[in-house]
Amino acid sequence: MAQQYGFELIRETEIPEINSKAKVFRHIKTGAEVVSLENDDENKCFGITFVTPPPDDTGLPHILEHSVLCGSRKYPSKDPFFELVKGSLATFINAMTFADKTVYPVASQNTKDFYNLVDVYLDAVFHPNITPDTLKQEGWHYDMESPDGEMVYKGVVFNEMKGFYSSPDQVLYLETGTSLFPDNLYGANSGGNPQAIPNLTYEQFKAFHETYYHPSNARIFFYGDDNPEERLKLLDSYLSEFERKDIPNPFAPHPEFSEPRRVTIPFDAGEDADNKALVTVNWALPDPLNVERTLSLQVLYQILLGTPASPLYKALLDSGLGEDIAGLGLDTDAYQMIFSTGMRGVALEDASKVEATILETLDKLVKDGIDPLEIEAAMNTYEFSLREYNTGGFPRGLAMMFTSLSSWLYGGDPLAPLAYEATLASIKEKLASDKHYFEKLIDQYLLKNTHRSTILLEPDSSYRQRLEAQERARLDAYRATLSDTEIEAIVAETHRLRQNQEAPDDPEAIAKLPFLKLSDLDRQSRNFPIEVSQHDGATIVYHDIFSNGITYFDLGFDLQTIPQNLIPYLGLFGTVLLEMGTEKEDFVRLTQRIGSKTGGISTSTITTEKYDRSGSALWMFLRAKGTQAQNDDLLGILSDILLTLKLNDKERFKQIVLTEKASTEARLVPAGHMMVASRLGSHLTLSGWVREQMGGIHYLFFLRELANRVDNDWDGVLADLDSLRKHLINRDTMICNITLDAPNWDK
Ligand SMILES: [Zn+2]
Repeated sequence: MAQQYGFELIRETEIPEINSKAKVFRHIKTGAEVVSLENDDENKCFGITFVTPPPDDTGLPHILEHSVLCGSRKYPSKDPFFELVKGSLATFINAMTFADKTVYPVASQNTKDFYNLVDVYLDAVFHPNITPDTLKQEGWHYDMESPDGEMVYKGVVFNEMKGFYSSPDQVLYLETGTSLFPDNLYGANSGGNPQAIPNLTYEQFKAFHETYYHPSNARIFFYGDDNPEERLKLLDSYLSEFERKDIPNPFAPHPEFSEPRRVTIPFDAGEDADNKALVTVNWALPDPLNVERTLSLQVLYQILLGTPASPLYKALLDSGLGEDIAGLGLDTDAYQMIFSTGMRGVALEDASKVEATILETLDKLVKDGIDPLEIEAAMNTYEFSLREYNTGGFPRGLAMMFTSLSSWLYGGDPLAPLAYEATLASIKEKLASDKHYFEKLIDQYLLKNTHRSTILLEPDSSYRQRLEAQERARLDAYRATLSDTEIEAIVAETHRLRQNQEAPDDPEAIAKLPFLKLSDLDRQSRNFPIEVSQHDGATIVYHDIFSNGITYFDLGFDLQTIPQNLIPYLGLFGTVLLEMGTEKEDFVRLTQRIGSKTGGISTSTITTEKYDRSGSALWMFLRAKGTQAQNDDLLGILSDILLTLKLNDKERFKQIVLTEKASTEARLVPAGHMMVASRLGSHLTLSGWVREQMGGIHYLFFLRELANRVDNDWDGVLADLDSLRKHLINRDTMICNITLDAPNWDK
């Protein structure tokens, strides 16, 4: 067997789906596993992942994730990452704690920079300088300004998780796993519950690192156009210091529930007495190792809930029981997958009806069959997204790493989820010979599956006070046990910790970090091809860029022409364009047609100041994509939307307003700082003002009022919408932006 730099090559194969040569290696001395993808993508990616099963709710994995980034053997600076980021070309740099794993991913387009980052990461995870002070700073400590002052808990993760627990969506995310798997590792909270974090000791913290941050427990991933031998050489220099170790495998299926569970959990509703409940129904599914089963369930999710016109999504909205859909969707990032859906904005007395609506809808779909057009649309949408592999601003290689981990981490084949063609063909074959393929999946994995939980997240306006009182009592009780000398020691400790934190970093330690030099940079800046022309009054902007046969077609509408009072409507007008239906088709048929005949149509807005400070750029875009063969359908759909949009469906419009209101409200806590920034920015520039009007606090107030106006003044609302459409859809101010390689464009 071929050996290179201490690694044995286990497997080598071409994966045409992702245009890569894939090699799987095992480090001979330690057993560390490496997936190395070679391709022509200059956005090189690296990630090292450890299985980190949380033993309890102290947030041990999360605190350790923060701590290893606070300086290491080779790079002893206090904050190597913040220092590095100042001079790095990283396109991604982060660390992430999941329910069962901790991942350290980076990406960069500059080879030197890339290896610098990988080196700093490897030193950080294998040789961090974690001391009792690290746990105090990143985890928790007693904090006291003076002997007669108040004693409090402080710590980066402690404070972060307090913020986390104040958002009902984040509580729901944590409780979903806990409710389904109370008796295995998924029943514990890897992020940390503020009530449990202060139970964590330095001994546990240190031992957890020694046990799990070991090469024998690592999955290492490389991707991109760099020299693949360099990868192994660098890795071996770190791994070969270690001896192979047996680390217990924490993954086993949770015992099946004999009947579904119901869980009620309070959440901090603040003073807002109107706050409504959140209800979800969640199913435990098998492991994600059977790639065909996983992919089929992903398509099934798209069929049931992929768009507001999908049968389960629509049934929930039509029920009027809540304002918007909630739940995790299909989660494949754990040893047992989860299927989860529900509603937010539910009145307490309706909570039990949400579960009934979900189960009845699924039952009906199995009995009556799913609309074949819905299946066709979902299959096409899913297949298009697989082939396009458009990860937006997120590095493609890292998206592939996470896809691979969904099998690799649990002992499965790391490459199988990436090579999807054969799986897709097999599903299509099964569907062709069995029209009820997806109905059977609903029956087997959802309806007949008793391993299910229903979570009711109940608003409780005194919940926060109760938690704070508990914390106060705990601190006071502890303080009562301390002598004066012990209290003096805590005060001194508080000051010492703060001084250390505030002291500037040692210049010698910073100098050890591998910074880029000017000579490491490419002297040429990259230009994207742009050709501008005029056609019938509209401006056409064309980009000759290889797009794998896909046409990207964006229509831009200038918002400068919109009267001031109509600006807030723009926050939801993109949804109105796509989800109200046309004179020819209702919105379900229109959505199915978009799903089955295109690669997708979406809307977006740009609100920014021009770089030369000559004014604001304010645009709404209707963005469509499809293969060459879909061009005619695509243009037909766009013209239907623009020319025959149907606005006078009061019920549908009200659903859109309520959904938008509920999702804006759900963003308030997790994105509170963004809301404040938007409000402040609205006073500085025109684009800032427009952004606030159509997305900030002003927008939320507008939506709350609009929900009432739909009932009390529908004619007035309709007149506004009609006026907005007339101002917006205007050929003279339109821009058309097309991306497609020249050989295809000439056709
Ligand atoms: Zn964190």
